[in-house]
Amino acid sequence: MIVREGRVFAKVITGFCPMEYSEKDAVFMQNALQLARRAFEQDEVPVGALVISPGGEILGQGYNRTEELGCQDQHAEMIAIRQACALRGDWRLDDCTLYVTLEPCVMCLGCIALSRIGRLVFGADSPHYGYRGQREDLCRLYAQTIKNVTTGVCKEEVELLLKEFFKKQRKRDAV
Ligand SMILES: [Zn+2]
Repeated sequence: MIVREGRVFAKVITGFCPMEYSEKDAVFMQNALQLARRAFEQDEVPVGALVISPGGEILGQGYNRTEELGCQDQHAEMIAIRQACALRGDWRLDDCTLYVTLEPCVMCLGCIALSRIGRLVFGADSPHYGYRGQREDLCRLYAQTIKNVTTGVCKEEVELLLKEFFKKQRKRDAV
């Protein structure tokens, strides 16, 4: 695994995908992957997320619980953000970093942006529901507010976990 120091990337909406990240990023992404595996075990789309303070403390964590709780607002990022806000007693998370295994959807991006999260780090792209997808104009306003995005952290592992999940689901549906 090639690990380099992270850089600041301002061009979020152009499809520019920085592949450089720090060792710390990889460690937190592994934690997020652990959470994603918990979702996998519960037949949820495997996505995990963490909100990290500037000092490296975990303020919030979550994994996708859409099926369990029967609502699309139970995405990993939403759960992690909710927890972090409750812990801090403040909705402003501008000094925090959000790690998530998969590129956020538009709903989660809205919550990330409105929470003023300073940095977003994600693993794999989500071509169908990811905020960058084909809907750049729609997301321009939100996407521009996030100035620092790092992608591709532990990407292969995230993609493998997702592939395994959908393979399992297809098998189940075929029965
Ligand atoms: Zn989402």
